[in-house]
Amino acid sequence: MTTPRSADYVVVGAGTAGCVVARRLLERTGATVVVVEAGGPPEGIASSGDPARWVENIGAPHDWAYSYGPEEHLDGRTLLLSRGKVLGGSGSTNALVWVHGHRADYDGWAAAGATGWSHDEVLPYFRRAEEIGVERATDLHPVAQALVEAGVSYGMPALEDINVAEPLGAGPITMDVRDGARTSTWTGHLRPVLDDERLTLVTGEVTGLSLRGQRCTGVTVRTAEGEADIRADREVVLCAGSINTPRLLLGSGIGPAGHLRDVGITPVLDLPGVGENLQEHPIIAGPCFEAAEPLPAPTHNLEGSMAFWRSAADVTVPDLTYVSVQIPYVSAEVAAEHPVPANAFVLAPGLMRVRSRGRLRLTAGGGLDIRANMLDDPADVEAAVAGVEIGLELADQPAFRKLVARRVAPGTATDRSSLTRFVRQSAMPYFHPVGTCAMGTGDDAVVDPQLRVRGIEGLRVADASVMPTITSANTNAPTAMIAEKAADLVA
Ligand SMILES: Cc1cc2nc3c(=O)[nH]c(=O)nc-3n(C[C@H](O)[C@H](O)[C@H](O)COP(=O)(O)OP(=O)(O)OC[C@H]3O[C@@H](n4cnc5c(N)ncnc54)[C@H](O)[C@@H]3O)c2cc1C
Repeated sequence: MTTPRSADYVVVGAGTAGCVVARRLLERTGATVVVVEAGGPPEGIASSGDPARWVENIGAPHDWAYSYGPEEHLDGRTLLLSRGKVLGGSGSTNALVWVHGHRADYDGWAAAGATGWSHDEVLPYFRRAEEIGVERATDLHPVAQALVEAGVSYGMPALEDINVAEPLGAGPITMDVRDGARTSTWTGHLRPVLDDERLTLVTGEVTGLSLRGQRCTGVTVRTAEGEADIRADREVVLCAGSINTPRLLLGSGIGPAGHLRDVGITPVLDLPGVGENLQEHPIIAGPCFEAAEPLPAPTHNLEGSMAFWRSAADVTVPDLTYVSVQIPYVSAEVAAEHPVPANAFVLAPGLMRVRSRGRLRLTAGGGLDIRANMLDDPADVEAAVAGVEIGLELADQPAFRKLVARRVAPGTATDRSSLTRFVRQSAMPYFHPVGTCAMGTGDDAVVDPQLRVRGIEGLRVADASVMPTITSANTNAPTAMIAEKAADLVA
């Protein structure tokens, strides 16, 4: 296929956000749309379609397979950062949890200057995004059921629906699944309109933005046929995700001027926030238990249930989640210190309302240096340690006690300093990077509340990178919501 020379809109990346943006632009305008996606179709990739095989996507050929680190506060470990390189993006490779987050997340964005993004204002966009098909887990696996029962006997509310405005308690998850197979914004939004003659899907990698003065006029694409320029008569919408969107901006001279000069790029616009403010959820992987009886084969997304809780009594918005993973999903360092039997599961706390901030930079050789900087802030360490302590109390509830033969990790020492060492050794990324092109009104904001790149005409960002602060749960549904609202702002 020949790459088109121009379109009204050029959408970069057909991931969770890009598929939504392209679909809605086709629906709402008479415009032509080119979508450029570096990856191919997920159809035929078993680990993408089958929810219980999602972990096989990590590091697979359809993964950009970036890395965080070395992470100073995680014993200098370097951690794989998975990002889907496939139609549907990380939404075609992720763990399928479909969760909105907490009212306070969006009200916080609005209070910090993101006018129009309060909870009540964004809720309709979540609902619209759910057209892809989502469903609640039923017939829970024994370890998933045990998490719900243990949560309740510990004192948590039973949570029927994780997508209420203020989730607190334990219950079954909602997943982007229909009839046992993954749904995504690719399957639900873009794939059904591929025949639309106003749409062109180009398989290739965008290598740079075309700029005339302070206006973005298109993109440069590398395809199997070579390099080509595509002109955007109206706008370019960047949906390349929290790593590749800032990478493209920096590579095109839009970012912190000092950093750009350091790596030999002439600044076009000094925009200090590009690549800064990176936020990630640590999962403490983690507390591991050998099962008393052989566990049944894994079901759902290897989880099936989830709990939302707080690390201390005075915490108002739940800052912890728990999942019980039906396989021994632990960090390499935990496995090295505590040999893990095959018939085991993990009760993993996740730290949601993080204070630590990382950043992304280009290297002089054209590569990337990405630091999540997880557990940098002492408050995050404190909450993570409390998360393990509460997790061990959950594991001590009757519902788990009857499933467990012995605790594999952490070891017998559970004083604060031993657990601090344990969380630094077991924290892994949830694969939720956000915030690297934050929306706002201050000097550090990269996009304004209409998602326009500040100081450049004809260029917006609509993906997970615009979140000013990370949401209190997984980030896929919030990204789809951002894309739904972005389409309203563009058209
Ligand atoms: C393994 C894993 C598990 C996860 N589990 C969950 C979960 O259970 N629940 C949840 O809510 N969230 C989960 N997430 C996070 C969630 O999937 C992401 O937050 C969300 O998909 C981000 O959407 P996005 O549109 O910003 O980026 P992506 O969905 O990553 O889309 C970016 C797209 O742009 C393409 N692209 C990038 N650069 C270029 C370029 N230069 N040229 C052309 N194309 C380009 C990419 O190939 C990709 O298709 C997980 C993520 C991973 C990787």
